[in-house]
Amino acid sequence: MQYDIIIIGAGPAGLTAAIYAGRAGMKTLVISEAIPGGQAMLTEEIENYPGFSSSVKGPELVENMHKQAKKLEIDFSCEMVKEVLKKDKGFSVKTSKGNFSSLSLIIATGASYRKLGVKGEEEFTGRGVSYCGVCDAPLFKNKEIALVGGGDTAVYEASHLLKFASTLHLVHRRDRLRATKIMQKRVLEDKKTVMYWNSVIEEIYGSKLMEGVKIKDVKNGKIQNVACKGIFVFVGIDANSNAFKNILKTDEKGYILTDENMKTSLEGAYACGDVRKKLLRQISTAVGEGATAAFCAQQYVEELKGIAYK
Ligand SMILES: Cc1cc2nc3c(=O)[nH]c(=O)nc-3n(C[C@H](O)[C@H](O)[C@H](O)COP(=O)(O)OP(=O)(O)OC[C@H]3O[C@@H](n4cnc5c(N)ncnc54)[C@H](O)[C@@H]3O)c2cc1C
Repeated sequence: MQYDIIIIGAGPAGLTAAIYAGRAGMKTLVISEAIPGGQAMLTEEIENYPGFSSSVKGPELVENMHKQAKKLEIDFSCEMVKEVLKKDKGFSVKTSKGNFSSLSLIIATGASYRKLGVKGEEEFTGRGVSYCGVCDAPLFKNKEIALVGGGDTAVYEASHLLKFASTLHLVHRRDRLRATKIMQKRVLEDKKTVMYWNSVIEEIYGSKLMEGVKIKDVKNGKIQNVACKGIFVFVGIDANSNAFKNILKTDEKGYILTDENMKTSLEGAYACGDVRKKLLRQISTAVGEGATAAFCAQQYVEELKGIAYK
């Protein structure tokens, strides 16, 4: 079957694009490798999404987006997109199960935070372990927290978190930080910072909520227990763009380049949400971009059909 629009990814960006495409009468397919929801499925409480005066559970928010999209005549399929090919008029999308074709494409495949891979990380994600300072810093007001990483993002986030935390245990596996000197100075000179050079997290422990971390000095092998209520992990984030890198332009880190209308370097293909190069990776930015991408894809499809029908 030929779709008007194929949306790849069913996080907040893809689901919003689906709602706008479906309401515009576009024959739409949403392909997602996992159950719809994206990263928000991993988020216990979301406190910064407008419209909820206290907070909303991540799964509840995205399940409602999914329900709203399912009311429309949209197809959903759970499979992984492996490759996309540009055809004469449109696209061929190869998945783990088969092939689909469409006139336009919306890429909303998000990004994945690199994990530490230590004991307790998965268990306490959303219950102390966080990958997003903007999202979760206020939850740790006047509490002791740990932070792992030494690059620009880690040190920028450390500076933000110091406004909230009573103590910040900064853990870095090398003997110097990689971030800009001015940011380093700000964080290292703050009395609330305790620095652990040449150190790694060995384990995150707790019972219902996280209660502390084991920090290992890689030079002498010594391990110490540090009681803290949260740990922020900033050891990198990867754009989920491997399947598209050959057909459209990305930056050096793999984030898809678009204009302000979410248009990529490839005609008829749009990208929205965390997978695109942008400043702020949040649900509120993802949904706005999803709406814009769907609106522009709809215009593209209608123009294409108008030409084809002449
Ligand atoms: C722990 C955590 C807490 C967070 N807390 C907050 C918060 O409090 N507030 C806030 O605003 N933001 C928060 N964020 C960030 C927010 O969740 C993201 O900015 C948002 O989910 C991005 O939406 P997206 O639709 O672009 O991508 P994602 O949510 O990443 O969704 C991507 C989708 O693409 C699919 N996909 C990926 N690759 C493929 C492929 N090859 N084939 C098919 N499908 C594919 C995935 O299965 C998924 O459905 C948090 C993130 C995390 C990890």
